[in-house]
Amino acid sequence: MTEPLADGARPHPAFDRWQSADGRLVINGWDVERLAARVGATPFYAYDRAKISARVDHLRDLLPDAVRLHYAVKANPMPAVVHHLAGLVDGFDVASADEMQTALDTGFEPLSVGFAGPGKTDAELAQAAAAGIVVELESVGEMQRLARAAQTLGCRAPVAVRVNPDFKVRGSGMHMGGGASQFGVDAEAVPALFEAMADLPLDFRGFHIFAGSQNLSVDALIQAERAVADTALMLAEHAPAPVRHLNIGGGFGIPYFPKDRPLDTGPLKAALADIVGDLTARLPEAHVIVELGRYLVGEAGVYIARVIDKKASRGQTYLVTDGGLHHQLAATGNFGQGIRRNYPLAIANRFDAPADAPAQVVGCLCTPIDLLGDKVALPEAQVGDLVAIFQSGAYGPSASPKDFLSHPHPREVLV
Ligand SMILES: *Cc1c(COP(=O)(O)O)cnc(C)c1O
Repeated sequence: MTEPLADGARPHPAFDRWQSADGRLVINGWDVERLAARVGATPFYAYDRAKISARVDHLRDLLPDAVRLHYAVKANPMPAVVHHLAGLVDGFDVASADEMQTALDTGFEPLSVGFAGPGKTDAELAQAAAAGIVVELESVGEMQRLARAAQTLGCRAPVAVRVNPDFKVRGSGMHMGGGASQFGVDAEAVPALFEAMADLPLDFRGFHIFAGSQNLSVDALIQAERAVADTALMLAEHAPAPVRHLNIGGGFGIPYFPKDRPLDTGPLKAALADIVGDLTARLPEAHVIVELGRYLVGEAGVYIARVIDKKASRGQTYLVTDGGLHHQLAATGNFGQGIRRNYPLAIANRFDAPADAPAQVVGCLCTPIDLLGDKVALPEAQVGDLVAIFQSGAYGPSASPKDFLSHPHPREVLV
């Protein structure tokens, strides 16, 4: 991309992170057209395993040695991605019985898998208890239902308490904490929960405190992790057993929109060393866990769709693709974003051409909200070209209404 984006911002940093050869996008050594032929159809998602590995390396440098890095499977549950990460991280966080199954299939020991999420059914709780993974309790009722499942199985179930913290994080894309919430047990109600836990067949292992997602402000992140640590230390005084598992969340964000600045991880290293040092000094049996989803995989994925039709309408060029919001809901601005902004988008087979032909890039669905790119600066494109949407490695197919309008589902490939 040589020209600034039409909405007045600079080209997105994502463009610098991808290579091209002969003017075409290259995905971990694969020419995009060749990869499309290999996959056999468009649209598809391609995930770059080298980029995922590099991101883990970066985090290993950043995180204190004592910290265990977990992958939040819901960000991208493709089994190949989960298996690749199994060789790189220390555990998984899952949010359903199916995610648990994917995580356990990698061979991780059950105590390295945590199961969070409101609305766990009796069947899921029984599966989790049988598996021996750590159930992150979201309420007293859930605790009682898990205890019944464990009793029926004749086992004790490892548990952590998911805490709804009494502070709020500034700068987080998705606010959690500070008020009423469907997530976790209010911090002030945790001592009463411990009393109710006393005679149940549950093994208390620790806490899970997740303060929010998609945070691009390093100051806010550090502030949140300090507050999380304070909350954990305060609650540990009431705990029925030593804290061995302390999930302090994560929420590291990635830049999606032209105005987003990548998270400046520079100051994190010293701050985390300080926070974690304090925690492990005071809770010597605790493994501190940082759980990340989108930060691990989001920037490693690209969504590729083909231009099926090109038309003009009252002065605007429309590139109509075979993709759309049924595959990439977030890129159309319909995944909880307040304002619709463009994801970084390119013509993958004209990657180095001057972007002098602004266009509307749309999907194939019969709804005006199926808008993938609004007045995007692109090279002059033709039918048959490939559109690439970057920053698509997290919350893609699994977070999109794949059956809406009954078109084919997207394919996925890890290269
Ligand atoms: C969704 C979720 C995550 C992952 O969030 P990312 O923004 O993808 O890192 C981590 N922990 C919990 C409890 C979650 O609900």
